[in-house]
Amino acid sequence: MPKTERELRQDIVDIGKLIYQKGWVAANDGNISVRLDRERVLCTPTGVSKGMMQPDDMIVCDMKGNKILGRLERTSEIAMHLAVYELRPDINAVVHAHPPVATGFAAAGRELNAALLPEVVIALGCVPMAAYGLPGTPELIEPMKPLIPKYDALLMANHGAVCYGPDLYKAFFKMETVEHFARIALVAELLGGAQVLPRREVEKLLESRTRYGVKAASAGEPFCPVTAEDVGAGDRITVTREELIDLVDQALKAKGIV
Ligand SMILES: [Zn+2]
Repeated sequence: MPKTERELRQDIVDIGKLIYQKGWVAANDGNISVRLDRERVLCTPTGVSKGMMQPDDMIVCDMKGNKILGRLERTSEIAMHLAVYELRPDINAVVHAHPPVATGFAAAGRELNAALLPEVVIALGCVPMAAYGLPGTPELIEPMKPLIPKYDALLMANHGAVCYGPDLYKAFFKMETVEHFARIALVAELLGGAQVLPRREVEKLLESRTRYGVKAASAGEPFCPVTAEDVGAGDRITVTREELIDLVDQALKAKGIV
């Protein structure tokens, strides 16, 4: 049974409180939206803390971003949400926030594409990065467009993250997975470097998606292939770029090629 508009307004209020309490937004950052039907979207207002909204604060927009109903002004990122709905008919809800660890990766120019945790490989494959664009303008959206059909969660360079799903809570949980994964990846790096899963294990996980009912987009080709180890788990080889060049040099010299 689909939720009523009143219930969806309350869901946005509740998810706004969660993202605020989790520290994924500061001040009036972030925005949330949900489809009401094929012609209308319910979205958060601009200039309001996402932790302190009321159900009546929400705005109803048409699919061009024009306000139909609401006493406040709609989010400045409505066009980004509408781009997701346009490119993904299967998506009914979008959550955008600035969770600090995932956004740290986005500020460092680092995608979340290492195959470290089985549940993340299954749920998201990887989280690619859309190039920077000025917030609230078409430049923000253009680099995201090739990625939206293929992934359910994106990093936005020097900005934040956006996740989307078939309903509001599924979009929210994806954001939670992204931030949780970013924290774990960071700790692994601090402890000396993440050990990625062997490629054959990643392939098994991706194949198991249908068993878990995951309708996620592809693992990544060609934008953001999941980084996995190409050798068995027991015989990982770690070499630096310089060591690799030396090894190639030695091999060429041994064969008398150089
Ligand atoms: Zn933002």
